Amino acid sequence: MRKQLLFVVTAMMMGSVLFAQRTIIHCGQLVDARRNEILKEMSIIVDGNKVTEVQKGYTAAMGTDRTIDLKSKTVMPGLIDMHVHMETETNPNKYMETFTFNPADYAYQSVLFAERTLMAGFTSVRDLGGSGVNLSLRNAINKGLIKGPRVYTAGKSIATTGGHADPTNGYRRDLMGDPGPAQGVVNGVEDCIKAVRQRYKEGSDVIKITASGGVLSVAKSGENPQFTEAELKAIVETAKDYGFKVAAHCHGAEAMKRAIRAGVNSIEHGTYMDEEAMGLMKKMGTYFVPTITAGKSVADSAKKPGYFPEIVTPKALAIGPKIQSTFAQAYKSGVKIAFGTDAGVYAHGKNWMEFAYMVEAGMPALEAIHAATVSAADLLGDDRVGVIEKDKFADIIAVDGDPVKDISSMGRVRFVMKNGVVVKNL
Ligand SMILES: [Zn+2]
Repeated sequence: MRKQLLFVVTAMMMGSVLFAQRTIIHCGQLVDARRNEILKEMSIIVDGNKVTEVQKGYTAAMGTDRTIDLKSKTVMPGLIDMHVHMETETNPNKYMETFTFNPADYAYQSVLFAERTLMAGFTSVRDLGGSGVNLSLRNAINKGLIKGPRVYTAGKSIATTGGHADPTNGYRRDLMGDPGPAQGVVNGVEDCIKAVRQRYKEGSDVIKITASGGVLSVAKSGENPQFTEAELKAIVETAKDYGFKVAAHCHGAEAMKRAIRAGVNSIEHGTYMDEEAMGLMKKMGTYFVPTITAGKSVADSAKKPGYFPEIVTPKALAIGPKIQSTFAQAYKSGVKIAFGTDAGVYAHGKNWMEFAYMVEAGMPALEAIHAATVSAADLLGDDRVGVIEKDKFADIIAVDGDPVKDISSMGRVRFVMKNGVVVKNL
């Protein structure tokens, strides 16, 4: 009996040695995202879901090691999009979906959007607002039921009555009702505290507020301030108690300054950012998440007759095209930038276009990649992602060509590994 037990234990130990297969990735070019450099002829060693080593030259395989040949590719850390909406995607019928979609309809399409995002090289995303299906999407991905990026989700956004993320904007009166903190609508300090605690109860990872008016809501202003300073402070302070960071949607300068002073961690869109706002952001260490792609996309859609409700079209035409020049100014002035696109407002999977717009506006390619890796991880507050280094998650992608010479190579993702598992290798 004893002998048998010993045999079983020995066999199990040998098995674990035999089956611990390392993966060696040979990289023709490797982006060092921390130092904004490209290294030639490097090897990445992956064991389980972690990177164990990065070595110069092409390391030879030993024993059961598996080798992946990316000698003709540019390899870099899995990309991070800090502003997506995984539940929905723009289409001329979008405003009707509020009345015709059940949660399952959002859920099924989000499965497709999540996979597209991952295959485009984005191994992590921050979902800044949906119906709450985005929480279940994150859980299903984490359980391995479906393919998708790591999702850090806000669950529902928090707005004030009639504000950008009030879910019943534009409804007829009997359908409008009076949504409260549970639905993400707040008025006054008490409501703000309750809404943040509600997000904690539901399992959100981050708090999203709509500090100013926005483009796609059925409301007149795309930029007015929609929270008082006291409300903003209550949100930020309560969020801190629960370990949340706060992302503030914001187009107008006044709303932005209030949010920055209150201590939010990022300004999303930032369209009418002025010099005073930039100065405040530098002082407070606030990140700017530009979403240039969304701005350009809504401006294009607004030119198609009937695409948006009448009240939305002029906002899309005015705000949409301006974000890129604001980004150029903010970058020049030294504001911290994290990559974000507002995917869902345009088609999921085209997130790479933001890189092209950032480079076009004056940011070097390697700095744009830095914004989508190292800076994004810093804003997430998760140091396990964003770099290819010992003990970090093995989130690794490769593109055809050299992004420094041709930024459109970011749209030619040929290899994706997430959490040590190869999900794409063309
Ligand atoms: Zn958004």
